[in-house]
Amino acid sequence: MSSSAHGPSETSSVGRPSRLLTQNREMRAIGVHNWSLPAWAGRLPDGRTYNTCPSAGICRHVCYARHGTYTWPAVRAKHESNLRFVLDDLAGWEQAMLTELAAPKFRGNWVRIHDSGDFFSSPYLESWLRIMRARPDTNFYAYTKEIRRFKTVVEPDPPENFLWVYSYGGTQDAVLDPAVDRVADVFPDEDAIAEAGWSSQEASDLLAVLGPHLVGVPANNIPHFLKKLAGRRFSGWQAEVDAHRRTRGDTAVRPITSAPSARRRVGPESTEHAA
Ligand code: SF4
Repeated sequence: MSSSAHGPSETSSVGRPSRLLTQNREMRAIGVHNWSLPAWAGRLPDGRTYNTCPSAGICRHVCYARHGTYTWPAVRAKHESNLRFVLDDLAGWEQAMLTELAAPKFRGNWVRIHDSGDFFSSPYLESWLRIMRARPDTNFYAYTKEIRRFKTVVEPDPPENFLWVYSYGGTQDAVLDPAVDRVADVFPDEDAIAEAGWSSQEASDLLAVLGPHLVGVPANNIPHFLKKLAGRRFSGWQAEVDAHRRTRGDTAVRPITSAPSARRRVGPESTEHAA
């Protein structure tokens, strides 16, 4: 949920990334490694289209991972090769991740799943759950907007070494209950987080899963993104969009008496005419 730069692309001769987990400056400072996919929707060089964030809502309009260093060709190529590996050979990817995580440097440390992207399918999520269970000495965490998928697949029996936070700004926001769920919301700035009585994760991204359960994320300082945010929180912006969609849906449903099929049922003495 915060912007960051990635290391250079490292790809094997068969087009598979030789190193799956990376570390940027911000994450190195807190001992966290990242796994990243390309953010949201796009097209791979071979022509296949993808959507790695199927429940993204308004967040996609101000997605930090579709801006700046994330758009650099080497960074984009690394994320795309990660995704291709998952799509083309999920079992092989799972084994490669397990092999990489066997290195001593991961023991007692943290992996953030998805610096960008999300758990876009249940088989992919289940693959991660198997990886976590097989590497109990490493801790994993994630932000996610795949709320229904998590409530079905993860919540009944989560791995002990996995923590997650549901993030607002997606199409499933209405499912969230901040009285029960750990939730993250993007705010215009730190003052807005404090005024709302939420806790900022700015000092360390790990606070998103280790701190109080109402997690405030200050918006990235990207002028055209801040303009779109217009002083709102992600949750408020998404609620506006959801309400607008509901209203549009309601007015789109015409009363039965004015629908063409009802008019056609009117008897021959009627003065109504088909348009
Ligand atoms: S879910 Fe995250 S990575 Fe995906 S579009 Fe939204 S902000 Fe970007």
